[in-house]
Amino acid sequence: MEREKLLDIRDLSVRYTTDGIISRAVNHVSFSLDKGRILGLVGETGAGKTTTALSLMGLLPKYTSEIEGELQFQGKDLAKISEKEFRNIRGRHISMIMQDPMTSLNPVFRVGDQIADVIKIHNKGMKKNEVNEEVDRILTMVGISPDRKNEYPHQFSGGMKQRVMIAIAIACKPDLLIADEPTTALDVTIQAQVIKMMKNLQKELGSAVILITHDLGLVANFCDDVAIMYAGEIVEYGTLEDVFDRTKRHHPYTDGLFGAIPNLTVKTDRLTPIAGMTPNPAELPEGCKFHPRCPRCMEKCESGEVPVSVRDGHRMQCHLALEEDVK
Ligand code: SF4
Repeated sequence: MEREKLLDIRDLSVRYTTDGIISRAVNHVSFSLDKGRILGLVGETGAGKTTTALSLMGLLPKYTSEIEGELQFQGKDLAKISEKEFRNIRGRHISMIMQDPMTSLNPVFRVGDQIADVIKIHNKGMKKNEVNEEVDRILTMVGISPDRKNEYPHQFSGGMKQRVMIAIAIACKPDLLIADEPTTALDVTIQAQVIKMMKNLQKELGSAVILITHDLGLVANFCDDVAIMYAGEIVEYGTLEDVFDRTKRHHPYTDGLFGAIPNLTVKTDRLTPIAGMTPNPAELPEGCKFHPRCPRCMEKCESGEVPVSVRDGHRMQCHLALEEDVK
């Protein structure tokens, strides 16, 4: 099938300034996403994943953040458009499922009304009965009986609240859906149900999805492409096969993430966590940002630029990238 580009992020950097301290949350990030594809944006807390998503939603804090680079989406550079233009895009063309369904829903409004509000904002001429029909249709899509539309968020379980959040996010059939750790607050069985439902919806609507997560199992089940993010940079990027093929050369941080999850084919007494902590974005190390934690660090890694290498679309930012694959 012919692939068509939906999103093209070029050299995106985001800085926050608070009390005179500059935090470099996102640094020279570039990646693209085709229509209908699912990208997993993976990394530890503080890697810059959510800041990247908020840039796409035009929701960065106005007075304390600064954005550079290009966010090309449907012929517009989202880094340059006004708030007024963003209001036509947000919800209608790009929408986001936030991390915590417990706090993201408005507790004093009925769930049906919260979904109807989104539909009405973006479909000004729609009649009341048409909006109601649409609310019923969307609730059914996410597996909630329309009979429950007059209930309030506190009457729903955690998994059902997350379904309501998804219903709000897909209410206008967005071209791009961003899901920020959509299942973190849920228990394992509900997680599986929500992910299965999102996958079915994505097929039905044809939306592209950015799934923000630190869960590689979720990525393996859901994504087509993967971007591994560390200290505000994409350190490795490729298809699911590129990143999950353990016979290929990978960024040492990616290897570290895989070493920290259980593997059924390798007998081991304990998992290997990545030593050290994610650096503070206000005090990023010189050279490769991963070098203080990297088991393969060399002298040249401690200063200067780290080259980016690309092999058949599989991209890596590491001095080791050009070495042979692991056989
Ligand atoms: Fe490790 Fe050096 Fe590669 Fe950074 S550039 S990940 S320190 S080997």
